[in-house]
Amino acid sequence: MPFSQLNDIIIKLTDETTVKVLNVLLDQKEIIDEEIVNILNEEIERAYEAINEDEEQRIPRIALKEVRKSLYKLNERSLARYRRVRDKETGYFVYFWTPIWERIRDLIISRRKLSMKKLRQRLDYEQRNLLYVCDEGHTPVTFSDAFELGFICTTCGKELSQKDNTKTIHFLEQKIKVLDEELKTGLEELDDIAELMEKSIQKK
Ligand SMILES: [Zn+2]
Repeated sequence: MPFSQLNDIIIKLTDETTVKVLNVLLDQKEIIDEEIVNILNEEIERAYEAINEDEEQRIPRIALKEVRKSLYKLNERSLARYRRVRDKETGYFVYFWTPIWERIRDLIISRRKLSMKKLRQRLDYEQRNLLYVCDEGHTPVTFSDAFELGFICTTCGKELSQKDNTKTIHFLEQKIKVLDEELKTGLEELDDIAELMEKSIQKK
């Protein structure tokens, strides 16, 4: 799933309902707000399927108002756009929503690059600095700090010894490798999907 990280990113920017709304958009190509409400509430009802009739009213259904709020949030962040069409019968405008793929793609790329940068910095730090720590695991310090302290922990007074960070280094290297792969393959998938979406919209 190319969007494995997307939900985490969106939730940081907005909230849980907005994540759900965006996922419906990603799945449905072009959709009106009322349909989104129906889809989300059907999902909720399915989750509560076993419930009996008396409790039926207590199912936490999503309101149209909430979905609209989420759509505006997505629109503000340029993650979704709408096409406005006047309904000939009612005279009201109907909004057809679609995700903005380029922006979603850019968001995923920039977040991944940021994670990668942080991991590389951490790895670099671990490789450069041998850390010293006591048996109790109190705050590790660098060699020069440990030297100044006479290799004694300031918290408990126990002796400081070199901390083995080969496991940490190995862990970081693995994470970097995985993220690097995701950066390559994940983006191809995103491009494929974006292309399909563009085509399906043009057909309408
Ligand atoms: Zn200590």
